[in-house]
Parts: sequence; C-alpha cells; structure tokens
Amino acid sequence: MEPSTLWQATLGELELQLSKVHFLTWFKNTYISSMNDGRITISVPNTFTKTWLEKRYHTAILKALQHVLNIPVRDISYEVRAVADTKISSAPPSGFGTSSAPMERGRIKDLPTVAETVNKYGLRVNYTFENYIVGKGNELAHAAAQAVADNPGQKYNPLFIYGGVGLGKTHLIQAIGNRLLQKNPHAKVLYITSEQFTNDFVNAMRSGSGKEFKERYRNVDILLIDDVQFISGKEGTKEELFHTFNTLHHAGRQVVFTSDRPPKEIGAEERLKSRFEWGATVDISIPDLETRIAILSHKCGEKQINISTEILHFIASALQSNVRELEGALNKIIANYQLRNTPISLETTKALLSGFANNSGKKSLTPKFLIEAVTNYYDLSIDDIIGKSREQKLAFPRQIIMFLLREELEVSYPSIGKEIGGRDHTTAMHAYNKIKFEIENDERVKRDVEIIKQRLYNSA
Ligand code: ADP
Ligand code: MG
Repeated sequence: MEPSTLWQATLGELELQLSKVHFLTWFKNTYISSMNDGRITISVPNTFTKTWLEKRYHTAILKALQHVLNIPVRDISYEVRAVADTKISSAPPSGFGTSSAPMERGRIKDLPTVAETVNKYGLRVNYTFENYIVGKGNELAHAAAQAVADNPGQKYNPLFIYGGVGLGKTHLIQAIGNRLLQKNPHAKVLYITSEQFTNDFVNAMRSGSGKEFKERYRNVDILLIDDVQFISGKEGTKEELFHTFNTLHHAGRQVVFTSDRPPKEIGAEERLKSRFEWGATVDISIPDLETRIAILSHKCGEKQINISTEILHFIASALQSNVRELEGALNKIIANYQLRNTPISLETTKALLSGFANNSGKKSLTPKFLIEAVTNYYDLSIDDIIGKSREQKLAFPRQIIMFLLREELEVSYPSIGKEIGGRDHTTAMHAYNKIKFEIENDERVKRDVEIIKQRLYNSA
C-alpha cells in the first residue's frame, strides 16, 4: 500500500477515536515519510507534536496502523520535519492535507492528489457544490449556501448552518468560498475556524498587532467562520467577533457561520446570538439511505474506483449517521483492496466493517468501549481514570463514565466501582446523581454528554 493511502486510512481510524480538536491539533500535517520492513517513520511538523504523539498517542497510532495493514508493525518512530508551505496549516477539519504535505523528493512517489489539496485561502479545492450531493437532510442548507454564493451580502446575511458531526458543514461553507473564487479570482475570501480566529486574536493582542488583525478580518468580501461553537467561554474573542460581524454586515459584506448547535445554544451573550439569527438559519440533518448511497458513489468517482451498487448499499445501510464515517469506511475498503489487490467483494467489505458496521446502538456498546470513548473525548488515559487523583480534570470525566455506564449500559453500582479503579459503590452512586443533576442544570455538561453519546452510537 502506498504510504499516503495507508496514512489516510489510519487517520480515518484515529479520527473516530479522538475529539475533533485533539485530532486536528496533533495530526494536522503529519504523514508517513518512510516505510521499511515493518518500520514506519511518521513525519510531524514540530517537536511538541512529536513528544505528544510519542507520549499520548503511540499505542493508538500503532493499533490503527496494524488494523489497517493487518500485519504487525515492528516499530514506529517520529521525526520532525518542517512543512514548506505554512498555508497548509490552515487546512480545514477533516482529512486535511495530511498525506499531501510536501515530501522529500524521491522518498515517496505519490504526489498530492487534487482531492487533498488546500488552496491559499485554506479551502480544500474539492469541497465544491459540484461534489456536494443534495438530498433530504441538506437540501435547504444547500439552497441557502448557493444563494449566498450567487448573491453575497444580499440575501441571507449572515447565513448560519448547523448540524451534527460529519454531516457536511465544512464542505458546504467551503463550497461557498470556492464558488466565489471561481466567479471572481480577486474576491477576498477568508475561511477560518473559530479556534483559528481565537488564536489569531489572542496573538494579535499579545503582540500588539490588533490593527493588522482588524484589517485582515474587516477588509474581506466574505468571511467564513467554521465551528463557531468553539467561541464559547472566550469573552474578548466574542466581543471582537461581534464587532467584526457588525463592520462587515454594515458594509454589505457576507458572513457565514457553521456550528454543531443552533445559535441559541451557543455560549455567547444575547447580542451576539441575535446577530447569528439576523439572516437565515438552516440545519443539516442525517442523509437518508438513497443520499448516502449517492454520496458513496460520488466519492468512488472522485477516487476512480469501481464498487458495485450492492456493496455501496451495504456500506450505506451499515453506517447511518455520519458522512465522514461513511467516507472513512470507504477509504478503509479501498486501502485494503490496494494492499491485497483482490477485488472488492461483499464478503471482505462485511469483514472490514465489522468494527463499525454494527449500528444497532446499545446492544453493541461495551463498558470498555464506553470508557475509551470518554477518555478519548477528554484526552486522558485509562490510568488517569482508574487512578487515585481527585483533581477536577480527572474526577469529572470519571464521573461522566460512571454516569454513562449506569445510564447506557445499566451496569450495577458495585460493578461500576470495581471497573473504575476499585472504588466503592457509593462513589458510583454519587457520581450518577451528580452528573444527572448537572445535565439538567448545566448546558455545557448536557452538551458534553450528548456529544459523547453521539460518538458512542455513531461508531459502536
Ligand atoms: P462537518 O463539517 O459537518 O463535520 P464535513 O463537511 O467535514 O462535516 O464532511 C465530512 C465528510 O463528508 C467530508 O469529506 C465531506 O466531503 C463529506 N460529505 C458530507 N456531506 C456530503 C454530501 N452531501 N456530499 C458529498 N460529500 C459529503
Ligand atoms: Mg466541520
């Protein structure tokens, strides 16, 4: 298997296990720089990432690689290599230009494919309307996005798109940018995630370059802000976003937001939330079977791979709630095919998807999987969870685990206590009651638990 294909499939697996933020933070701009006799070298952009991958993610990476390769990996090492084009670091969330990172000439033959390329605006070139399949669940959002791309600043301003993970929000918001640039290469398009906006703002404040910051953000034709929910809890940034929005709106420039939740549920003060709702708010929901098959079929076309409708039907029925996961499954099947050079059959597809094909919810969920999902979400290790420390950053996730074990799997309190580092059953009971109360009274806890549950049932 080509190193880039292998790494892409591996990232696909890792992405399912980690929170998006962690995944992006640690795996952006990584790629396999050499593969030799079961020894794999992963190239990373800086020492910090290197240390972190070695310390926290080594086992996960090893497992994922073995899983994709289906043969033992003898050794993984990490090396720091600067990426030539820093623009790539503003790559959008999923499947970012990992394997397309510039590689030393001659070491790896395959060059970046179009599908992985990020242009200088931070837009993935294949995130276009042409590549976006319209169906039940996204047709309104799609129509609104097209209207905005055709008449920026006129119809829906701002356009606010929201929906669950992996349902195509980033693809759609970037399609708007790409369309505008197609029509007018000189258009000033700025795509950014709210995290990048926050970082940028904080850095600007720190280095006294607030003026440049304002110029950069307030002087565009269209501002595309992805995952605006991450703005929660950051007062200065919210204030800045508020003024940025007002300035742009006043000047008739277009603003588009995406979020995993509706405007009302974003942790921001009323005046900002009301701005989010000024224009049009549209949601994207889970695509129906027919749309899922159409998406798979389109992705096969992009990758120039032929897979029978029967198999596509099987994949689309097995994975129902997340397009990114659907694509991950397809990539895995293709990677396996390229490795073994055997035709893609229903048999192998079933075997390959057995890990995530069981979408029947609770039945397939195990305590182990649940615990791993929560620890991954909070970026902790199992040892942290079963350990003795009562530090809040450990105690809270531990209580979430105990709560979910009870709520989702009906594990008894004594067994929960035993499972979580040999604790007393009263500890488990207390944790359950506490989290139950907090879910009812604290929007953030509620949201955390919802996201974790979505993940449990999306990938269980
Ligand atoms: P989100 O930002 O909502 O988490 P993304 O936009 O990153 O989701 O989508 C995840 C993956 O699924 C991307 O590779 C995207 O191209 C693909 N995808 C989602 N919806 C569609 C669709 N309607 N048509 C084609 N591809 C889609
Ligand atoms: Mg996204």
